[in-house]
This record gives sequence, C-alpha cells and structure tokens, in this order.
Amino acid sequence: MNNKFETNAIRTQLARSQNLEHSVPMYLTSSFVFEDAEDMRASFAEEKERNIYSRYSNPNSSEFIDKVCQMEGAEAGFAFASGMAAVFSTFAALLESGDHILSARSIFGSTHALFNNFFPKWNISHSYFKINELETIEELITPHTKILYAESPTNPGVDILDLEALGNIAKKHKLILIIDNCFASPYLQQPIKYGADLVIHSGTKLMDGQGRVLAGVTVGNSILIDKIYRFSRMSGPALSPFNAWVLSKSLETLAVRVDRHCENALKLAEFLEGHDKVNWVRYPFLKSHPKYEIAKKQMKAGGCVVAFEVKGGLEAGQQFFDSIKLLSLSANLGDSRSIVTHPASTTHSKLTEQERAETGITDGMVRVSVGLEHIDDIIGDITQALS
Ligand SMILES: *Cc1c(COP(=O)(O)O)cnc(C)c1O
Repeated sequence: MNNKFETNAIRTQLARSQNLEHSVPMYLTSSFVFEDAEDMRASFAEEKERNIYSRYSNPNSSEFIDKVCQMEGAEAGFAFASGMAAVFSTFAALLESGDHILSARSIFGSTHALFNNFFPKWNISHSYFKINELETIEELITPHTKILYAESPTNPGVDILDLEALGNIAKKHKLILIIDNCFASPYLQQPIKYGADLVIHSGTKLMDGQGRVLAGVTVGNSILIDKIYRFSRMSGPALSPFNAWVLSKSLETLAVRVDRHCENALKLAEFLEGHDKVNWVRYPFLKSHPKYEIAKKQMKAGGCVVAFEVKGGLEAGQQFFDSIKLLSLSANLGDSRSIVTHPASTTHSKLTEQERAETGITDGMVRVSVGLEHIDDIIGDITQALS
C-alpha cells in the first residue's frame, strides 16, 4: 500500500469476520482453539503464524502493532501493558550480564531509575552523555557498550537531539540505537529514517491522547524484535486486548489531534515568549530554541510540550500552580486536557539537586502539555495565573 500516513492509520485493520463488521471488534479472549492434533502440534512448533494465547499475541494487539510499524517504517513490533514495560523488556531481552548502556542524560525519570537502581543487580552498567555534547559520546563507548539510548524532544526540558548524528555514531561503533519517541509520536518523527534500530513508545501519551489507558510498544528491526518477543511471551508484560482496541481506535485520529496540539502549543509558546513574568520559554519550533534547525529537519511540528520559567523562583512557581483554574495539575502528558506540571517538586524530585541542574530543571520551571481546548482559554488561564 502506498497510501499516506492518515490513510494507513485508519485503513490498516484486521480482516473482517463473518459478521462483516465495519469497525474492528474487541477480541477479549485469553486463548484460541486448535482444529485438531496436527494443528496444535504445528502451531506450537511455530510452523504457522497464528494466535495461541493472548500473552503471546492477540488480534487487537497485532492490529495496533501493525499500525505503529506502518507509521514508524518498522519491520515488526511487540505491544506492552505500559511504556515502562516496553522499556524494561526491551533492555532485559537484549542485554547480558556485563553489558553497558550509553544513554542521554535527559531521559524519563523511571528509565533513569531502572538504570541506576535495578540494572546494576544484573551487572548491567550505564553512563550518561550530555545532550549538548554529542562529540563526547565516542569517548564514553567501552568494549562492553551495546546500546545507545536517547529521547528527543526530552522531558521536561524539551531539548532536541540530532537523530542523524546519533544514527551515524551507532552505525560506526555497531551499537543498537534505541529511541524513546514518545514525546514526538510517530506522526511528527520517525527515528528509523535516521538509523534507529528500535523505537519505543509509551502509548499512554499522544497515542491514546485522552488519558484513558496505559500502553507501550517497541518496533523496529525484526531480528531484535524476535528476541524481545521471545523474552516477553515468557515474562508476560503483554498489552491487554481491551487497551489495544482503544489504542488502535486512537491512532485513527492521531494526525488530526497532534496537528491541533502542535498548533496550540506553538501559539502558547509565542505568547509566553513576550510575557514580562516569564524568564525563558522552550519549544522546538520557536526560532529561539537552540536546536531549532535540527528540530525543523527531523520533526514535522514541535509537539505538545512547552517549558518555561516563571520569574521569582520556587515561591512564584508555587503561586502560579495554586492560581491555575482550568488546566489540570497532573503528571501525564499528550492528553486532550491541558496539564501543567512542576518537575522540580514532582516527576524529577527524586533526582539530586546536581542531577536536576544537569538536566536543566530549575525551581521555577513549568512544563505545560498543551491540550485540545480552545487556545484562547488555555492562554487565558495561564495569563491570570501569572498575574
Ligand atoms: C510516560 C513515558 C514513559 C513511560 O510510559 P508509561 O506508559 O507511563 O509506563 C516512558 N518514556 C517517556 C518519554 C514517557 O513520557
């Protein structure tokens, strides 16, 4: 099929059953039946591709995975119960004791916690490179380095990493490049084009887009995905068919939703840039963003997250949050409802002060996940809270 993104998002779907349904139904079944003894034997011997048990595969999950593969230009994938299940299972399936991960410093808090608090138990080490010093990456590669890992845009600082540069380094040193593409969504950015071997998403964010379900997915190179599949079908982090069905429906509207998220976010960022109570604003498609040119090259639009700093530090920041009326104080993002977060006291409070400084998180920093309400109302609430 040579159709466009929007068309594939809608028309990639399971074959109709004998009921000729138009919209794909939900397959809430834990297992599947065999025709006879030979069918059962051949199925378990993997001589034929078919559903056996929903921990391994399920029609709704398969449809969801197919859509994400289409969107990302990937060969294969596996769907997980959450974004973190995808992150953990991907690493656990690919790494051996003694291996080393080289990761960007600015990554999702729970991923950082896995690297720091749990992977050392299995003798898996990591080091971090600073996202504005990609030239230092090669010095940090050791003979044990197996995976190069990054997110772009980053959370919560909305920094941009040059995916093509990362792709070249990974290729030169034969590292597996894994990109957590959750902040961009597959609509805005496809890291495989730049050399990523695997792409991870938390489906909880823009993919669902309505704050209903947790989900995760890893897509990419089919040999690597097969290893992830073999590990996951035994360890059991599979996405539920119900959530897969919800996600698959959500992807039908991903393009129109993300277009509006980005339009609203850019308007908010431009408004805040001229505001006298604001120190700085960061949004990838603002000309003032230090990586504006790279963002323009690798992203279709700037995404739904805007970061800014309220003048007056922690106290002014807290006053701002207490004055918010319409927007939600919550930790999620990519929701139709706009959400404001204070990273220093919430999502990144477990980092030391130095770690926060290294990731660019200041006390007065506010992260806004710009939703789908009317932009005048979003700007109105933030304006009254700032004053
Ligand atoms: C939310 C998030 C995750 C984790 O996803 P869950 O679905 O919450 O488990 C991983 N990476 C990034 C960048 C995220 O924003």
